[in-house]
Amino acid sequence: MTSAQQRWLVRISDVSFTYPNGVQALSGVSLELAEGEVVSVIGPSGCGKSTLVSVLSGLRESTGSVVWNRDVLRELDGSGRRPFSVVFQRNTVMPWLNVEKNIAFGLRYLKLSRQDIRQRVNSLLETGGLVDFRRAYPHELSGGMERRVALLTGVATLPKLLILDEPFSALDEPTRVSLHRELLVLLREYGMSALLITHDLGEAVSLSNRVCVFSNRPARLSSVVDIKLPPDRDVEKIRATDEYQDGYRELWESLWQQINARV
Ligand code: ADP
Ligand code: MG
Repeated sequence: MTSAQQRWLVRISDVSFTYPNGVQALSGVSLELAEGEVVSVIGPSGCGKSTLVSVLSGLRESTGSVVWNRDVLRELDGSGRRPFSVVFQRNTVMPWLNVEKNIAFGLRYLKLSRQDIRQRVNSLLETGGLVDFRRAYPHELSGGMERRVALLTGVATLPKLLILDEPFSALDEPTRVSLHRELLVLLREYGMSALLITHDLGEAVSLSNRVCVFSNRPARLSSVVDIKLPPDRDVEKIRATDEYQDGYRELWESLWQQINARV
């Protein structure tokens, strides 16, 4: 929920991007994220959502601008921490490292003592309920556990923004909902914002304060739906509420309109 006390974190202004082969994926996208917010992006398949992730994470250069709050960057200065980390649908977890080494991997770039690293990994393993699996390799884990490791790896370096690109798409519904609960706990515990790309409308409503609906390619921001559920919501119980149903309905109508809009 945005409030006057929340600082803006990143401003995406009028971002357009065209791939070298001439495919335009983004057209004039503007979006601002504040500290503590969860914002989702939904849109037709192939519209440009993952392209936005690569622009935001600096992998692709776009026109327009992506500006991080200088005060926030100053706070990270000298710590080696980056303002964001990205969790993808797959290939986030390294198969040749066990769970604790996966979680610790990004920490080697931070200015932390061995003891600090050990403590951080232990506390993440505890939050994620993976203490007993610390020495397990990814192929020994269930799909849900592997995703939990991916989340913990993203959180471990304490970014200000966790960017999640369809992180739970391959999971069954009950596993997905338990990961939703854990994600909200992690975000709260470590004081992070999240930008979630998803094609799952229920997931967008369950987790977000705001949902941005993208048009067909090239993606434009076609509408923004405010989700009127509190930040400390219970993701298992909210589905029966009017606020959830209203958000879902509004999103569905916006998305369906975009899917049917021929360009
Ligand atoms: P989404 O994540 O919304 O499904 P993407 O951002 O991955 O969509 O892709 C947007 C469009 O850009 C698609 O039409 C896709 O085919 C195209 N595209 C994605 N990556 C590349 C690339 N490396 N080169 C050329 N076109 C690409
Ligand atoms: Mg994608």
